[in-house]
Amino acid sequence: MNAFKHYVNSFLLIELCKGLGVTLRHLFARKITVQYPEEKTPLSPRFRGLLALRRYPNGEERCIACKLCEAVCPALAITIESEEREDGTRRTTRYDIDLFKCIYCGFCEESCPVDAIVATSFFEFHFEGRGEHVITKQQLLAVGDKFEKQIAADREADAAYR
Ligand code: SF4
Ligand code: SF4
Repeated sequence: MNAFKHYVNSFLLIELCKGLGVTLRHLFARKITVQYPEEKTPLSPRFRGLLALRRYPNGEERCIACKLCEAVCPALAITIESEEREDGTRRTTRYDIDLFKCIYCGFCEESCPVDAIVATSFFEFHFEGRGEHVITKQQLLAVGDKFEKQIAADREADAAYR
């Protein structure tokens, strides 16, 4: 019976008519034009834009150099070097992300046990010089400092949604 129904639908081009119906509906619908960049569409709190490294409120960097993010990154975009500090804690001495390799999958963010590496909702960035696509630890921390309020708000909104 299903095969017969499928045959009749194919013969009468039902799927095609349905598709054309959608086109027709939108042909006469009110058009909406967003005047970007003056106007912007809303972003999900889960949007994955430029990556950032976060600090604790006392200014201490969160990253403990466990290298989980480096291990999980499918694009091999993260490079970490680390050393032990005088107080016995471990911190990174190098934390680079190659933004040409990064596919913004968010695996690094998910794997981080201390919420250090995060994706911000900032996506309007570009590079002008050779090598600028490799973003360093200091740059990542600066991005984190700049967008900390937004990052915290997004994470709160996301937690409430879950
Ligand atoms: S977002 Fe994905 S691809 Fe980019 S650095 Fe993180 S794990 Fe790697
Ligand atoms: S960013 Fe997070 S997962 Fe990556 S090394 Fe630092 S603490 Fe570990």
